[in-house]
Amino acid sequence: MTNDLAQLGRPVVFFFNETDSTNTAAKRLILEGKISEDAVITCARQTNGRGRRGRSWLDDGGNSLCVTLVKKLGIAEHLERLPLAVALGVYDALSSFSTNLGIKWPNDIVIGGKKVCGILTEMSTQIDYINHIVVGIGINVHNEQFPEELADRATSLYLESGQHFNRAALVEAVCENFELYYEQFMRTQDLSGLQEEYDNYLVNRGRQVRILDPQGEYEGIARGITDKGELLVETTEGIRKVDSGEVSVRGIYG
Ligand code: ATP
Repeated sequence: MTNDLAQLGRPVVFFFNETDSTNTAAKRLILEGKISEDAVITCARQTNGRGRRGRSWLDDGGNSLCVTLVKKLGIAEHLERLPLAVALGVYDALSSFSTNLGIKWPNDIVIGGKKVCGILTEMSTQIDYINHIVVGIGINVHNEQFPEELADRATSLYLESGQHFNRAALVEAVCENFELYYEQFMRTQDLSGLQEEYDNYLVNRGRQVRILDPQGEYEGIARGITDKGELLVETTEGIRKVDSGEVSVRGIYG
């Protein structure tokens, strides 16, 4: 696998047989000075995969794919919008391997309403500046089953197609497509060039959603995103703009 990945032409590729989380490993490598420019970190097994706000990401050994892409940052504004652009890149990458894909706002990739890929975008900071962006992508590839608590909301490429996939080809597709969308995002620092495409893939669009906002929950119909990546939700009191930072959206699963 290491050899296949080395052919990607990326500056540095790290492969671990086992690590806690590829995002955590990436941050460690940055702090140790082993990554200065862009890098790819992947592993055969992740023991402590993380999601947003302390949630965990289940890695099923060789059946899952965990890859973290590290970018050295030139600028650090509006990065909270980046996960939506990353989702578009991963959507495009997976579309060569699966049909019926969608994006659940802000950055889950789903097949038939079940999550096949989670994305966790983090910053690596040193003293008082952000120097790298760390994008973790977890894909359920060959999982044949999930624990009970995930069974009705998770799926894998294998479960949807009955086929097996080349992991290196998947990593390559993810890296290539990520680059395209990252560059487009960085040109404008927002989703203005990507909004229409994103809305086309948005599974929440036109559907009832429940916004789990710590300030108060509410429901409405999702209409699409703004160029800042906010979700537009039509409620009885008018259109509300939902920022991804602190909320969860229910309605697709759960
Ligand atoms: P929410 O769906 O509640 O808004 P989120 O999209 O922010 O959460 P993430 O942080 O991306 O969630 O991922 C963590 C969540 O994903 C977990 O709480 C769990 O519900 C679910 N999950 C964990 N592992 C997997 C997996 N391998 N496949 C699909 N879903 C998973």
